Amino acid sequence: MSSEPSAPVSSSSVAGLAAVEAALARACLDAGRPRAAVTLVAVSKTFPAEAIVPVLEAGQRTFGENRVQEALAKWPALKARHPDAALHLIGPLQSNKAAQAVTLFDAIHSLDRPSLCAALAKAIAQHGRHPLLFVQVNTGAEPQKAGVLPEAADGFIAACRDDYGLTISGLMCIPPVDEPPSPHFALTAKIAARNGLALLSMGMSADFAAAVRLGATHVRIGSAIFGHRG
Ligand SMILES: *Cc1c(COP(=O)(O)O)cnc(C)c1O
Repeated sequence: MSSEPSAPVSSSSVAGLAAVEAALARACLDAGRPRAAVTLVAVSKTFPAEAIVPVLEAGQRTFGENRVQEALAKWPALKARHPDAALHLIGPLQSNKAAQAVTLFDAIHSLDRPSLCAALAKAIAQHGRHPLLFVQVNTGAEPQKAGVLPEAADGFIAACRDDYGLTISGLMCIPPVDEPPSPHFALTAKIAARNGLALLSMGMSADFAAAVRLGATHVRIGSAIFGHRG
């Protein structure tokens, strides 16, 4: 697979951002939550820098990418122009890319195994950068999907803290595509609450209103802003 951005430039990404902002504000209002309680992570994976610049210039400051190599190709130049932009890794992370991830990203949403904990702890100590860490929970127990199983989550979170000295800030989930998402969001929120975790990364273009209703603090929205990925 190529790491080159391949999707076409969307001329309407600024309009997409405005529409998502309006819908997100509405979802927060309906949920009785302040808009400031939810961070919009604009998922720019596969889109080239030219598509991202207008969204940065429109004021969006938090972006999500799912691959380290692609993010390394696009973001150093974008961050040079917008130093206050924050970058979140939302896709799986290989342990041998942990150091690159710790230097480039401000948050990592996909912590799911002890070997990655060890690599991240080492990289954090070496580089002195402390990205926010989310444990990914495979709430649907899907074999092809990353994440710890719900019944293993408490033990894994404890191991992150006690065995690796990591500060875990929250949980992330990606519900199965063919199921109603709300039970998965509710389960993720319940596991977070009993482990004292304040942050919840859940909700995408199709289901972020439900996620906001169930306590999402980070919604990861790509296609509703940037258009369909090529
Ligand atoms: C691509 C991706 C998203 C964004 O999905 P959309 O449906 O385009 O909003 C969110 N989360 C993860 C983990 C992704 O890989």
